[in-house]
Amino acid sequence: MAHRTVLVINSGSSSIKYQLIDPDTAESLANGLVERIGEDKGTIAHTYGGEKNTFSERIADHGAGLRRVIEICDEIGPDLASSGVVAVGHRVVQGGAYFATATAVDDDVLERITELIPLAPLHNPANVKGIEVARELLPDVPHVAVFDTAFFRGLPKAAATYALDREIARKLSIRRYGFHGTSHQYVSQAVAEMLGRTDLKQIVLHLGNGASASAVVGGHAIDTSMGLTPLEGLVMGTRSGDLDPAVVFHLRRVGGYDLDKIDDLLNKRSGLKGLCGNNDMREVHAMADSGDPEAQLALDVYAHRLRKYIGAYAAVMGGLDALTFTAGVGENDSQVRASACEGLGFLGVHLDAERNETRSKEARLISTDDSPVKVFVVPTNEELAIARQCVHLLEA
Ligand code: ADP
Repeated sequence: MAHRTVLVINSGSSSIKYQLIDPDTAESLANGLVERIGEDKGTIAHTYGGEKNTFSERIADHGAGLRRVIEICDEIGPDLASSGVVAVGHRVVQGGAYFATATAVDDDVLERITELIPLAPLHNPANVKGIEVARELLPDVPHVAVFDTAFFRGLPKAAATYALDREIARKLSIRRYGFHGTSHQYVSQAVAEMLGRTDLKQIVLHLGNGASASAVVGGHAIDTSMGLTPLEGLVMGTRSGDLDPAVVFHLRRVGGYDLDKIDDLLNKRSGLKGLCGNNDMREVHAMADSGDPEAQLALDVYAHRLRKYIGAYAAVMGGLDALTFTAGVGENDSQVRASACEGLGFLGVHLDAERNETRSKEARLISTDDSPVKVFVVPTNEELAIARQCVHLLEA
């Protein structure tokens, strides 16, 4: 087969992450990050052929950013015209009730993604911008939207429904959507392949700066911890995860915070950062090791929440075959993995201490040989998953 590539684009509110990837070999040909779009001084870091080039300049908007990326590719490579680009894959955060799979972008699809902005005001506007600009700049290849919510589109109603006034919930499209779906799907499929089974009851813990858990039975997601927005569920770098909704009323009535302040507080100044002042797990450990009680409490709250979700999802599935850790914390942090599994022997979860401590970039088993529940670390690769979904769609 001729060499082919997919350009994967992930537009954030003031950033664009991109990667040129071969979906067949998983090779990354180039990648980069445009940051601080719209500010006085933006940056572009572009890596190609093992070399990283950094540019510091004003980047007015997403259009200007993407245009510069294409110029940089012309100047220092890779040459997009000869790279066999068969598609541009766009990560889109919220696909709402519309999108259960990766979807080729046309004007109608773009309109629907725009329509979903009220459900994802922090994310979908940037995704829309990224798609618009990329379609203009690269008009000769198909553009595909890959949704963070798609893997969870088929959640059972009992898991997706909040116990709210049904009319209001319907009118305002309030339900559990779930996020990080591309990662949960990719990782759970990798585990199914490693074990050679399609009937598994799995829990996947995606622990990055954002964090989420999913329960997956036979390849289908049946529950997940993020909800209407990515705020619900696990303790995250800066997000609170679960709390009593009345905390919001209390902050308003007693604390005098307005809604934007509360939104900011719960999304950007809570979680590990709120608990101990730092959202980088490596630094939280360093603080705890040097005797900081707040950092220790942050770790304890983090692990307690993980164990609670593992127990809940094992109950929801009526059993558990595989428990898998992924993303920055999940892939690298043996202490978090150990504390998440602590006391779960009754469920059949037995970590092998030495395997858990062994560092590797590969997918690996970290439970004991006789552990009824297989525990894995699987490095996630959302860009590769997006690239593969694109070619899969184009071949269909
Ligand atoms: P994002 O959610 O932004 O994609 P990642 O999946 O890259 O994030 O995870 C980022 C987080 O992973 C960082 O905030 C950091 O706390 C954590 N992390 C990275 N390396 C390690 C490590 N060696 N030990 C513990 N935590 C780590």
